[in-house]
Amino acid sequence: MSPERRLLLVGAGHAHLHLLRHASRLAAAGYRTTLVAPARFDYSGTASGIAAGGRDPAEGRLDVAALACHHVDHRHGLVTAVDPVARTATADDGSRHEWDVVSFNIGSVADVPPGTTNGAAVVRVKPLSDLTGLRERLQDPPAGRGHHVTVVGAGASGIELAAHLAARDDTDLVHLLEHGSRIGGFLPRRAAQRLLGLLETRGIRVVAQADPVRIDDNAVLLRDGTRIPHDVVVVATGLVSPPLATRSPLGGPRGFPVRATLQHRDHDDVYATGDCADFLPVTLPRIGVHGVRQGPVLLAALEARPSGALAPVYRPQANALSILDLGGGTALAVRGRWWWLGRSSMALKRRIDRRWLATYRN
Ligand SMILES: Cc1cc2nc3c(=O)[nH]c(=O)nc-3n(C[C@H](O)[C@H](O)[C@H](O)COP(=O)(O)OP(=O)(O)OC[C@H]3O[C@@H](n4cnc5c(N)ncnc54)[C@H](O)[C@@H]3O)c2cc1C
Repeated sequence: MSPERRLLLVGAGHAHLHLLRHASRLAAAGYRTTLVAPARFDYSGTASGIAAGGRDPAEGRLDVAALACHHVDHRHGLVTAVDPVARTATADDGSRHEWDVVSFNIGSVADVPPGTTNGAAVVRVKPLSDLTGLRERLQDPPAGRGHHVTVVGAGASGIELAAHLAARDDTDLVHLLEHGSRIGGFLPRRAAQRLLGLLETRGIRVVAQADPVRIDDNAVLLRDGTRIPHDVVVVATGLVSPPLATRSPLGGPRGFPVRATLQHRDHDDVYATGDCADFLPVTLPRIGVHGVRQGPVLLAALEARPSGALAPVYRPQANALSILDLGGGTALAVRGRWWWLGRSSMALKRRIDRRWLATYRN
């Protein structure tokens, strides 16, 4: 039996949730596991419907503390600094945690454009705890009229949020601003056309080639001088790795740089998964499916370490299924060139989300 090794898990994203569920296997492999992470996890698959629609926040919430109650020492909080030489991580309560092996799964944050202020009416899509601020702002419409909301960025999450906002009875005006020349450039052309039709039917004012120079509590100011006033603005201009993954001694410009084995480029004892990782073999989009599929690879890698067995590698799927929840019971499912817009796509999405969440609730 090899000596017990200290395994430090930072963050409870998708891949680490898988480890927590199989913590007894880590214990059997000789690890003493510590987790530093908030007590709850918010699932992004339900985030738009919760923040901008009528869904209950409990629908997408997982109890990390309950999942980590066997074989794991769970310290509630966030890691703020890492020291790869001393092999320690410091948490926001000042506590220090030593590791023999460390794994990061801390997600991403919104890529906020320059000129964006920190006002209460400026909501960032990530972390998801910030996005729930939108739900609170929408509780009371201004006197005598409905909400005026602007969504900046027409990627998947911006489109979802704008569509949900426009489906609300208490919203009068939704602007969706896109830097590029058209909406849905990442979708098959016909799917993008159908989507645009749906957005127009919902009364969304789409502004393409929009270049915001200032985003504040009252308005978005575009470079051409156009001023678009709002009650609340959502910044959905993309996701980037958090500062711990870009500015710490282990970080790189796009996140913790990892090989196909999910190990750090320069450190065999350091792993990273999901949005905070810069997967060096191929650039991966920041979508939950990679964190989900990396979980079993990471678990197998950690189990293989003590015996010196060959490390497994992560092979990303070429065409992952993605489903945009557009509110009003409708969704757009896309896989490669195949797509379907309608209620059956939403039923499929609900089934997939429910099944995944149930895995971590039972
Ligand atoms: C509105 C919206 C909708 C989306 N919808 C979808 C979708 O339908 N399908 C899809 O595939 N993707 C979707 N995404 C993208 C998705 O959110 C991310 O790709 C996915 O969550 C990344 O998973 P992860 O496991 O890397 O991290 P996360 O799911 O973000 O989990 C990271 C966890 O780490 C914790 N953490 C953060 N910092 C620290 C720290 N310093 N120390 C300790 N813990 C920390 C966080 O609290 C969080 O619980 C959506 C994104 C947004 C913004």
